[in-house]
Amino acid sequence: MKFLQGLFLVAPLTAALQLDRRGKVVYDGYKIFRVASGSDVAAFEAQLESLEAIDLTHNHGHVDEEHFDVAVPPESLPAFDALNLTSQVLSDDLGADIALEGDLAEYPELDFSAAALPSLSWFSAYHAYADHLTFLKDVQSSFSSNSELITAGKSFEGRAIQGIHLWGSGGKGSKPAVYFHGNVHAREWISSKVVEYLTYQLVANYNNDTTVKSFLDKYDFYILPIVNPDGFVYTQTTNRLWRKNRQTRSSTTAVGTDVNRNWPYKWDGEGSSTSPGSETYRGQAAGDTPENTGIRTLGDQLAASKGIKLYIDWHSYGQYILTPYGYSCSAVATNSAKQNTLSRGTAAAIAKPYGTQFTYGPTCATLYATAGGSNDYVTDVNKAELGWAIELRDTGRNGFTLPADQILASGTEAWEGMKYLFANM
Ligand SMILES: [Zn+2]
Repeated sequence: MKFLQGLFLVAPLTAALQLDRRGKVVYDGYKIFRVASGSDVAAFEAQLESLEAIDLTHNHGHVDEEHFDVAVPPESLPAFDALNLTSQVLSDDLGADIALEGDLAEYPELDFSAAALPSLSWFSAYHAYADHLTFLKDVQSSFSSNSELITAGKSFEGRAIQGIHLWGSGGKGSKPAVYFHGNVHAREWISSKVVEYLTYQLVANYNNDTTVKSFLDKYDFYILPIVNPDGFVYTQTTNRLWRKNRQTRSSTTAVGTDVNRNWPYKWDGEGSSTSPGSETYRGQAAGDTPENTGIRTLGDQLAASKGIKLYIDWHSYGQYILTPYGYSCSAVATNSAKQNTLSRGTAAAIAKPYGTQFTYGPTCATLYATAGGSNDYVTDVNKAELGWAIELRDTGRNGFTLPADQILASGTEAWEGMKYLFANM
């Protein structure tokens, strides 16, 4: 398999980025291309290195389909055209796509007909980080005898990594864990919204839907919608396409480590970078990000207590259900037949409401290699029965800047998938 050592696309250099009057990066005129790398990836890297393009994602599922999604700044477009690459335009203007996401909305009214949960309009818009914390607090208050707010350590900039723990009739902490993470990659805004939607459905329906009640009576849910709060805030204040955390290091001027290449298991391998400027920078040492320490410690505690039945790291985009492993395309999970059956069934359930197609399969073989990724750690170290990553909508047209009017549908279809999974796993 091809190894994209260090990734050819450098992270955007601050000097090259244009800022508006509020200090936000301007993406007007950036075009997004899906580019076929061809068989000579090294030559491809060399060709694109100087364009200051932004690495969005890549997919090496099959050699003849290997492609990269890149955002090319307007000043580099002539040079990009001159490369004569096989490419397809995904977006003519990233700045316009960002505008289509809509402004960050006001925090909604509480809905007293729904046990004082926030109104469903929470899922019609994107919101500021502080409002996400208010959302969690309000959800918890509406379900106070079966939940508590939890924290999983602190981010590099000192923000508590906040979440919620839900339980059913067996009492707090009495059942195996379902453990969800959202927004480890800062720009993947749909992931926290969907994780919050799942939380909302569990809480809103526990007392009036026997199926939902059975889920919470069988499992303790530990849900952290935004595990990379510093990066998330940075996407809202400064750079919408920021991916990593905001950790600085004395050895480099580059900022940020990919928390999902930093897990201390199969760390420093294919699918992660040693270069601090890369979008997939693995860190200087395994597990050396504060965010990883926080969320890993919580997972370790859950594993040592009642065990982890299901872990899902929620991401976007691409529409994939990814099972172990990421570090190797030949390693096979001991329960791979079960994982295959369940991921296939989950994909079918997701497709029910709107026909949205999710591809499923082992991470490395299906999408790309990911050394130091969460699902491998949780699978092999924490012995989770199911250690998954899910890449939400879409397949590239809007990518990370999914319009706000797709939040509710994304949540609805994910909930269908989870209802199938919780009932069958
Ligand atoms: Zn991601």
